[in-house]
Amino acid sequence: MNLPTASTAPTDCGVVWNNTFAALGPAFFTRLAPTPLPAPHWVGSSDALAQELGLNVDWFHSDTALQVLSGNQSLSGTDPLASVYSGHQFGVWAGQLGDGRALLLGQTAAGIEVQLKGSGLTPYSRMGDGRAVLRSSIREFLCSEAMHALGIATTRALCITGSPEPVRRESIEAAAVVTRTAPSFIRFGHFEHFASRNQLGELRQLADYVIDRHYPDCRNSPHFDGNAYAALLHAVSERTASTAAQWQAVGFCHGVLNTDNMSVLGLTLDYGPFQFLDAFVPNHICNHSDTQGRYAFDRQPNVVYWNLLRLGQALQPLIGAPALAMAALDSYRTRFPAEFMRLMRAKLGLPSTQSAQTGEADVMDGLLRLLVADAVDYTIFWRRLSQGVAQNDFAPVRDLFIDRTALDAWLLSYKELTALIDKGLSANLMLKTNPKFILRNHVGEQAIRAAQQGDFGELRTLQTLLARPFDEHPGFEAYANFPPAWASTISISCSS
Ligand code: AMP
Ligand code: MG
Repeated sequence: MNLPTASTAPTDCGVVWNNTFAALGPAFFTRLAPTPLPAPHWVGSSDALAQELGLNVDWFHSDTALQVLSGNQSLSGTDPLASVYSGHQFGVWAGQLGDGRALLLGQTAAGIEVQLKGSGLTPYSRMGDGRAVLRSSIREFLCSEAMHALGIATTRALCITGSPEPVRRESIEAAAVVTRTAPSFIRFGHFEHFASRNQLGELRQLADYVIDRHYPDCRNSPHFDGNAYAALLHAVSERTASTAAQWQAVGFCHGVLNTDNMSVLGLTLDYGPFQFLDAFVPNHICNHSDTQGRYAFDRQPNVVYWNLLRLGQALQPLIGAPALAMAALDSYRTRFPAEFMRLMRAKLGLPSTQSAQTGEADVMDGLLRLLVADAVDYTIFWRRLSQGVAQNDFAPVRDLFIDRTALDAWLLSYKELTALIDKGLSANLMLKTNPKFILRNHVGEQAIRAAQQGDFGELRTLQTLLARPFDEHPGFEAYANFPPAWASTISISCSS
């Protein structure tokens, strides 16, 4: 996993570019080129993703690629644009937003969109500077790839390029650009934008575009009286429910679940002040700007539904009957708990082939209560439980708890529940479900601090570990350990 090095490599990137979004027309975007970034250098990159995209790896390693992906040269065949959207932020209608610092370059033949984030001012930058800083770019790069490796729907990150260009945040930081990819970057806020302006032609055009490209089955759905837009709302609700269930099961707190950060494909999108839980504190707030705790970890499932209601409202003029929209949204309320329970059962080592037994929910609830009471490290607990089942030794699990009597009683109920299940099978499932490596804040912070000194080794190490989060990686235990005391002093806010 070497960083690309400058060479006299080909000028042809190997991808034939397309941009179907650009065909939607000028109401949807503004065409513009990125703002050049002085003296760029490589910070991090993923050859694996480059190959998946069909990029010529020699080109990707070239100085041309460095310049293109920093916004200093145009990429032949692309048609860069910033899209317009609106949205609700912290529960309040925020009006027009849009790609204030991102540009869509185009789509690969397989339909994967490539975006530069941090590439300069756009007509939608409002008070912002159009830039991203190295710190937040490293967090997005590492986390989106980590989520992908955990099997959680997400945008991906191809590379980061950095520059000495100063950017003002709480302090002066170095600028960077992340190149990120997704089958689509369309947000709930894109629909809200046209609905709020009563631009029903554009609203329909956008919905048709999303259906044709991503949800073609909605055209002939037998449900919702054959209403394709209600079917779309239903499909988005289902995907969003699955993703939200995965966040809750793995202990991921997004931090800014505004409707403009909600992907119409159910992807985890716009990595800002996110955090993986260390101790299991359900009402943990990871975003220091979130003074009311609207986006606290345990509020995510409800706030996601609130966001889906806003999407439903936006699609209402296309759907027609309000009852149809409500029926389409209702699936979230069954899909989310079902998905969450499925994932938690796997974490406990209960195979999906075995139907739920009475008492399972009690065992689960009892466990979560114990984890809260002793503020046990969420990831370490699950990994140790998995090892405990594999080796029939629960001493390392006991060590995590203060109230051992309560834990022993719980372990007894757990053993009764799983008495008839093959332990090898269970352990196997658990070790593939409960990751050893997650992107803890303090671990990311160490890579960021090293990178700010020009050392990208930590970043590469983390990239390697997080690409295989379920493997043991002997020798790298420190990266899977409890957070040090200073971790609680890391302050992450919206501004990045
Ligand atoms: P976020 O909270 O990062 O999802 O961003 C909310 C809105 O602010 C979006 O329209 C972003 O494009 C915009 N935005 C965030 N940071 C900047 C920035 N540095 N410059 C311009 N626009 C920004
Ligand atoms: Mg955003």
